[in-house]
Amino acid sequence: MKKIGIMGGTFDPVHNGHLTLAEYACRDYQLDQVWFMPNGNPPHKDNKNIVSTPRERAQMVSLAISGYRKFRLEDYELKRKDVSCSYGTMEHFKELYPEDHFYFIIGADSLFSIEQWVHVERLFPTCTILAAYRDDKSSREVMGRQIRLLTGKYGADIRLLNTPLVDVSSHELRRMLRDKEDVGGLMPEAVVDYIYRNQLYTS
Ligand code: ATP
Repeated sequence: MKKIGIMGGTFDPVHNGHLTLAEYACRDYQLDQVWFMPNGNPPHKDNKNIVSTPRERAQMVSLAISGYRKFRLEDYELKRKDVSCSYGTMEHFKELYPEDHFYFIIGADSLFSIEQWVHVERLFPTCTILAAYRDDKSSREVMGRQIRLLTGKYGADIRLLNTPLVDVSSHELRRMLRDKEDVGGLMPEAVVDYIYRNQLYTS
């Protein structure tokens, strides 16, 4: 049995917050692999707000994870033409790899909106959810309450991921890049180079 982390996201662009979540999940839950899975056509994000192409987002993720032995790019959702829902993706993985245990890694904002995801009651039986702090509002106490609610209502297996707060988001990075601010230290250098070379997020 392998322990596999799933780090789903839009990654528009990928940043150090995503990498920190995956690193801590890997370390604290002794994961064998973490699959970074950019979404293609997510139901819960307005597609008009996705700035980079699927190919660019995948390339940025590849560059970001290239130094990590256990991380890999999973393009299952990117390749799908229809809307991908997490429950469907995870049911598919469970069918392919019934022996393995999946850990679905999310930040606090996702933990608080997860009940709005399509058929979330079908996502919970497929995996353990690892939920990380995102900002001061997502304190241990508030997150604990949300976890108890979801556990009671759906029988979900949700654990807190004890990451340091990494104050970075893709939308703030897009704004910084547009305003020509320095994004050094917030994302891997190779991703910054790629963004400048391809003139992404400049207008
Ligand atoms: P945006 O700012 O455009 O909403 P984002 O920074 O939240 O994007 P996503 O790719 O949508 O990036 O995030 C994927 C997952 O990573 C989500 O579950 C999100 O909560 C989590 N995440 C992203 N950034 C952080 C962070 N700094 N700390 C903790 N979790 C994070």
